[in-house]
Amino acid sequence: MNTYGDNGNILMLKYVGEKLGAQMTFDIVSLEDDFNADDYDLVFFGGGQDYEQVIVSEDLPSKAVELKRFIENDGVMLAICGGFQFLGQYYTDASGQKIKGIGAMDHYTLSQENNRFIGDIEIYNEAFDETYYGFENHQGRTFLASTQNPLGKVISGQGNNGEDGTEGLHYKNVFGSYFHGPILSRNARLAYRIIRQALLEKYETIDLPLFEDILSDEAKGQQITDSKRKVEH
Ligand code: GLN
Repeated sequence: MNTYGDNGNILMLKYVGEKLGAQMTFDIVSLEDDFNADDYDLVFFGGGQDYEQVIVSEDLPSKAVELKRFIENDGVMLAICGGFQFLGQYYTDASGQKIKGIGAMDHYTLSQENNRFIGDIEIYNEAFDETYYGFENHQGRTFLASTQNPLGKVISGQGNNGEDGTEGLHYKNVFGSYFHGPILSRNARLAYRIIRQALLEKYETIDLPLFEDILSDEAKGQQITDSKRKVEH
């Protein structure tokens, strides 16, 4: 799935990866394709509308074992919106239909009546000391299990469910989020973190340039956005 411009995440992975000296190649794994966890250093699982999600959910069981193996073997993954929902137990669509996820993790997603969470969102990840900005557009209300960590705490916006102040998830090397926008082009530090981790998993010891040395222009752009936001608030 790749709705709401999520392909921009792939472009950003390529951009940052090449700045880190990696030659990036990409495959689309679609319906009925094989997915072998050993073939990939990084997986992107995009979002989708309910219609596409039902179709994808019918194909997912054939990939579930390998996806779980990829996750448990510290594979690096970014899962957005519908993709994030499908890593969990189930997603309840707008009509109330319960659609099974791959159950790699314990989160689950309920529906809401005649409402979607739509708008700008800002979260803070304390462990990384990083703030992320995005745009959310989802009907589902996701609840993490008590053992799961969010990607960040909501500063403004709705997040996973509009109630508990969590947004997305971070488990091993899996990053889940409701952010479109796309998330990586608005959050260069997260893009750097994800690619860096994938390279460390692959090569174990590798000298990599610092974020400031390769993405300082993008970071400046982010700071301008930050200060503009402060003025606007
Ligand atoms: N269809 C799901 C929802 O509305 C996911 C949407 C998305 O991927 N943007 O919650």
